[in-house]
Amino acid sequence: MPRSSVLFAFLLLTFTACSESETMEGEEPATEETQTAPEYAMVIHGGAGTILPDDMTPERADGIRAAMNAALDAGEAVLKAGGTAADAVEATIWVLEDSPHFNAGKGAVFTNAGINEMDASFMTGHDLQAGAVGGLTTIKHPISAARAVLDKSEHVLLAGKGANDFAIEQGLETVDPAYFRVDWRWEALQKALEGEKVEQEQIQGNRIIEDIDHKYGTVGCVALDKSGNLAAGTSTGGMTNKRYNRLGDSPIIGAGTYANNATAGVSCTGWGEYFIRYAVAYDIHARMAYGGASLEEAANAVVHETLVEAGGTGGLIALDAKGNVVMPFNTPGMYRGYLKAGGEREIEFYK
Ligand code: ASP
Repeated sequence: MPRSSVLFAFLLLTFTACSESETMEGEEPATEETQTAPEYAMVIHGGAGTILPDDMTPERADGIRAAMNAALDAGEAVLKAGGTAADAVEATIWVLEDSPHFNAGKGAVFTNAGINEMDASFMTGHDLQAGAVGGLTTIKHPISAARAVLDKSEHVLLAGKGANDFAIEQGLETVDPAYFRVDWRWEALQKALEGEKVEQEQIQGNRIIEDIDHKYGTVGCVALDKSGNLAAGTSTGGMTNKRYNRLGDSPIIGAGTYANNATAGVSCTGWGEYFIRYAVAYDIHARMAYGGASLEEAANAVVHETLVEAGGTGGLIALDAKGNVVMPFNTPGMYRGYLKAGGEREIEFYK
């Protein structure tokens, strides 16, 4: 064998060994995954606590659908131009945070004290970097604060005044807290305050509370870019009538958000305490990585078995590096949508 061929074979073996050592046992090698992947793809949700079909007006449905289409358009513009999954997730969630229809940014639910405290998280699947914020009060786009924690700090999770101060230091846009208010969320708080006693009894009985439409509405996005990288983000006002600086799953990496190129990107919505306790977003990854489950098997098992058995209501969106999309939920509805390069696009509200 000529010397050059020996050298080439050695380099090839070394390269293969290095690539394999980065792939954990039970995970599909990246080369197989990318073969059938669309050029890019993305999936979004606008919360599992939809307005129930009987209460939905055509105007409201049109408004929600238009906002979701605009969000998908914003993300697709980034992906089509060869931008990163992270940029697409941020651009998409900005549109949902700006819309009064969702429990994130403008339209966030009210705390027991009658203010809006917003949480968000962000994760990139190629390097497992993550950032999250809890309890923001004046930052217009909480998702950008989460991303700034990822990009510009050595931390993963900042909360309260410190998180707000950090976001301001990063030059993020601030607004008067009154900006976030929408009347129907304020009324939902009043209703929750009046019905608190009854509601507490229902929670203690571990039953699905009837007014989940007032409680959820978090937004999330997972994107797959042309380089095969995944990113996921989630943004929320939390749950109506929350107190004691309560944080749900949305700012908790592994609970409300997770992304790993080797498996999937995930964003959750629902009763946060359950999603934290069952590490829902990470559980999707773990079932795929260690159990060899497909994305669909993993997502269905978590949402329709684990969470249902526990009494945890909600749903999630997830996207793997092959471009497979899942959007399971165990509530009456979940605002959800996805698109893939080539024109495939869908937006759904109910089952
Ligand atoms: N998961 C969020 C929380 O518990 C609520 C939601 O999804 O709307 O804070």
